[in-house]
Amino acid sequence: MAEQEKEAALPQKESFSEWYNDLLQKGEIMDVRYPVKGLYVWYPFGFNIRRNVYGIIRELLDKDHQETLFPLLIPENEFMKEAEHIKGFEDEVYWVTHGGTTPLDVKLALRPTSETAIYPMYKMWIRSHADLPLKLYQVVNTFRYETKHTRPLIRLREITSFKEAHTVHATWEDAAAQVDEAIRIYTEFYRRLAIPVLPSKRPDWDKFPGADYTIATDALMPDGKTLQVGTAHHLGDNFAKTFDITYEDVNGEQVYAHQTCYGISERSIAALISIHGDNKGLVIPPEIAPVQAVIIPIIFKESSDVLQACETVRDKLEKAGIRVKIDASENRPGAKYYKWEMKGVPVRIELGPRDLKNNSAMLVRRDTGEKQQFPLDNIENEVLSVFSAVQTDLYEKARKELEGRIFDCRTPAEVKENITKGIAKVFWCGKKECGLRLEDEIGAGILGIPTGQAACKGKCITCDADADTQVYVARTY
Ligand SMILES: [Zn+2]
Repeated sequence: MAEQEKEAALPQKESFSEWYNDLLQKGEIMDVRYPVKGLYVWYPFGFNIRRNVYGIIRELLDKDHQETLFPLLIPENEFMKEAEHIKGFEDEVYWVTHGGTTPLDVKLALRPTSETAIYPMYKMWIRSHADLPLKLYQVVNTFRYETKHTRPLIRLREITSFKEAHTVHATWEDAAAQVDEAIRIYTEFYRRLAIPVLPSKRPDWDKFPGADYTIATDALMPDGKTLQVGTAHHLGDNFAKTFDITYEDVNGEQVYAHQTCYGISERSIAALISIHGDNKGLVIPPEIAPVQAVIIPIIFKESSDVLQACETVRDKLEKAGIRVKIDASENRPGAKYYKWEMKGVPVRIELGPRDLKNNSAMLVRRDTGEKQQFPLDNIENEVLSVFSAVQTDLYEKARKELEGRIFDCRTPAEVKENITKGIAKVFWCGKKECGLRLEDEIGAGILGIPTGQAACKGKCITCDADADTQVYVARTY
């Protein structure tokens, strides 16, 4: 990539789409130039962010899930077993039909999701109630032939980083509790990414094909559209009946198991870079940043002292577990600031002869631009406490932004007026035709009923009947 190209400023964040595409390239997250539509390439820097993000979800799940790995290819006969499921995915499946020049006896689907790969094995693995609950997950690529406009990290034909969990339980209630637990885990995961999410129960027409119900989490993007960044599905015993997953209960009877599945994808990273980034580039929470602190020596003539001091600081930070780099390149300081700001490094440490004389260094926060002098003696602890302030402040900023963009609306006209800014909250009687009519009228979708909603009373926005639930309405990705 040419140096000038890198140096060119980003478009303003207000023109979100343009800003986003430019940020992916200049921030070295993903290269969009791969010659297949809907397939993109992770730059090593972006992949490093991905590794840190998925490290968090693994850490959270590993407490009581086990990681596994199933094959990419699913035989047609297994894939076609669950009628609702096929209906939901048939237009999106890529098929492998040949091995070399030989037509295959049984066509093989590239997994669009892995229920039909995993559940035939669950049938063999699960024997008795002692085998339950079973909680497995995998992080894999999946393929979907998207016909809508594709977009890196958001709408892809190869989802490169699908974390899917599949659990099996004795009862419907146990599975329902697991769905709640999944949403709790996802909320905590997104909190670590400094992203507030809204969990809501999807309307029936928008649930996962083959599920009893779906709860999803949405994040608000800077352009006012929401991005679905996590889903949890209660599968009831629907798939258990199809794939004959039974267990022997305490009375010695064979009964069907109950299941859930829940997923997160690289959309988590789309939300991360979009919500925190600014006109200077990426802003990455410290826990996730590939480089957490960069030291810039301010060098004039004969400044070996300064370089030495920088190395001492680096060693101290490394010892404290901080991922740190010294930028001792020939570039002028301004160019170095620009480069590391684009990369979202949370803290920049400037150290020159005058600082050295005072036994101090200048710490600059990427998120706020705030500058402060700190003594060198205790620099590692100062940096760590700045990290925790950055983490808290990024989350609070995003939370305020989200809360400020949820609008209570009583009429479709009010929804229309506010929907370009964010999310509308409206009363809905729960009838499908009222929901669909509203969606049609305002050109936006019902996200769902917020989980844990307090009791409330109002009139359905469409039919004016008494309603005791409110729903989120938004334009979605
Ligand atoms: Zn109604």
